[in-house]
Amino acid sequence: MQKGAIRVQTENIFPIIKKFLYSDHEIFIRELVSNAVDATQKLKTLAGVGEFKGELGTPEITVKLDKEKKTLTISDMGVGMTAEEVDKYINQVAFSGAEEFLKKYKGQTDGTNIIGHFGLGFYSSFMVSNQVEIFTKSHKEEAPAVRWECDGSPEYMLEETTKENRGTDIVLHINEESEEFLDEHRIQTMLEKFCKFLPVPVKFADKQL
Ligand code: ADP
Ligand code: MG
Repeated sequence: MQKGAIRVQTENIFPIIKKFLYSDHEIFIRELVSNAVDATQKLKTLAGVGEFKGELGTPEITVKLDKEKKTLTISDMGVGMTAEEVDKYINQVAFSGAEEFLKKYKGQTDGTNIIGHFGLGFYSSFMVSNQVEIFTKSHKEEAPAVRWECDGSPEYMLEETTKENRGTDIVLHINEESEEFLDEHRIQTMLEKFCKFLPVPVKFADKQL
């Protein structure tokens, strides 16, 4: 198990992210689904050039709601991440992006077009969550599955876990102010708005979009 602090200058980055983007909380779903699409397409590319020799299967993205646990989970069957990749792409890159974002847009209120461009994509999940977990297993066969967890403070936790299938599950523990996102109709409408016509099928509540 590894514990550490996400490398960021601003201690309280999450309240700032929330404030900047308050007008458009729902875009977290677009960011997470588009990461799932990217991960799936990357694996197809690797298979195409012979770098991935395993079974591609029929990759799909699934969105699941658990009202009792108050979680929303976005799962893909894409490339997955090794512990090193989580460290590199989640712990470091996203926050250096966040710093850049803050410097450039301090004083502006509309963050709509900014998110995504600065690697804030994944971190938009904290607009609606008080805790986020990543369960991921790389397509690289020897790499153990890992679980990353962060409660919105700069401290994260990264440990080995067991996960049967290749790919990534992003589990959002929806915060109190965002309970509107624990509603099927709300999620269905958001998915229809942001996630139609993607190159990978998206399923919600056992139905394809
Ligand atoms: P961007 O998509 O613009 O690179 P994000 O903050 O959305 O920025 O994601 C940061 C990085 O984390 C991605 O580039 C990718 O390497 C990794 N990542 C995020 N989600 C996934 C996923 N579902 N599967 C594999 N890697 C992922
Ligand atoms: Mg992204």
